[in-house]
Amino acid sequence: MITCRELADLLIDFSSGDLSPEHREHVEAHLGHCPSCVAYLEGYRLTIEMARELPRPPLPPNLARQLRALLEGRGS
Ligand SMILES: [Zn+2]
Repeated sequence: MITCRELADLLIDFSSGDLSPEHREHVEAHLGHCPSCVAYLEGYRLTIEMARELPRPPLPPNLARQLRALLEGRGS
């Protein structure tokens, strides 16, 4: 049985589906008896979804200039 602390470490991979089946079993077993970790997971997923909906920040001017130089250089 894993602890709440260990579950928090596995949560990122659990949410993205990258967790091994063995670890996923541990996480699901823990979630089955620990409401506070279920709430934590819900909050975590909500955060990810909100982050996804945020517009991407524009490129910093320096980077945009470097990219353009790179693209122009490739053309010649
Ligand atoms: Zn827990």
